[in-house]
Amino acid sequence: MKKRISILGSTGSIGTQTVDVLGSINAEVTALTTNKNIKLLEQQARKLKPKLVAAFDEQAAKNLKIALADTNIKVESGMDGLIHAAAMEDTDVVVTAVVGMVGLMPTMAAIDAGHDIALANKESLVCAGSIVTEAARKRGVKILPVDSEHSAIFQCIQAAQGNRLDKIILTASGGPFFGKKYDELKCVTPADALKHPNWSMGAKITIDSATMFNKGLELIEAMWLYDMPQEKIEIVVHRESIIHSLIEFEDGGILAQLDVPDMRLPIQYALTYPKRFPCKMERLRLTDVGTLTFFEPDEIAFPALKLARQAASLKGNMGAVMNGANEAAVELFLKEKIGFLDIPELVNRAMQEIKHTNDITLDDVIIYDKQARELVNSAFKR
Ligand code: MG
Repeated sequence: MKKRISILGSTGSIGTQTVDVLGSINAEVTALTTNKNIKLLEQQARKLKPKLVAAFDEQAAKNLKIALADTNIKVESGMDGLIHAAAMEDTDVVVTAVVGMVGLMPTMAAIDAGHDIALANKESLVCAGSIVTEAARKRGVKILPVDSEHSAIFQCIQAAQGNRLDKIILTASGGPFFGKKYDELKCVTPADALKHPNWSMGAKITIDSATMFNKGLELIEAMWLYDMPQEKIEIVVHRESIIHSLIEFEDGGILAQLDVPDMRLPIQYALTYPKRFPCKMERLRLTDVGTLTFFEPDEIAFPALKLARQAASLKGNMGAVMNGANEAAVELFLKEKIGFLDIPELVNRAMQEIKHTNDITLDDVIIYDKQARELVNSAFKR
């Protein structure tokens, strides 16, 4: 049966790889969105013929409308455009490949519309995990992970035959600064941080990978996706990025999912689950890899891991606070306004200064996210 797919963030790293796997599966695209890369969006739209496209940036949307004037594709802008693309009629699954908290409202709109979610936007689960998973459960909507680690866990769970997981082991590449001590990280630049050893990704996630906030966000993502307390999720540094994650059962048996580091398999599996189809990516040859290595993560050099565990055990508003502060701090770092170690420092300050509350609504998430960003931006101005 043909899968009808809306792709939010189709011009980014995950978005373009999603478009790439469409050729291997029976799919029809109903909507595409970008922030402001309208040149690529126009090309994609002409090829895939969605009913709706949207650019988050207002000016970009105006130019896109002119560019697509000879077609009957509807062009929208801003958060409304993103939400309409997410809630698009005649759609089976929405790929949420936008970066950051901006993905939360569209994800909720897609769930409300009854569409399954191929989730690449981890920030929406970090900020509002309880709200998103509860809404999906009530609406009978599946959240299919696209993140490689979470896809690995999901693939292993298919072989678990309903047996209870005792533990999740999340693998981490360690990023470009693996092995460096805290003091050695003082002077690293955005250019240093943007050199990732195994994965080619957008700037925000690459910086998150360097600070290890990415793994922290993924810890919280795994906690919500698999209903697992944070202390049952272990993080192991695995430099080769061949084992994408593992699950452990009560009897001590462990299952792992392996392949070459290529996002096309997790993306494709989220779109074809529970079936598997041939995938364009290179096959893993174990003898070419030879050795797999594993290390304990360094929580002193990378305080993000501790902060994420704190946010994960406190829950309530702390996910939104941690994430909002991190997004604001990463922006400042990329503009070279703050140092690398200021990122966890500012996130820590936001988590200390903003009071923890439990039971939160969607509106609260937006308020706490804003508060955390303001706190980071004003701390930097002081
Ligand atoms: Mg990942």
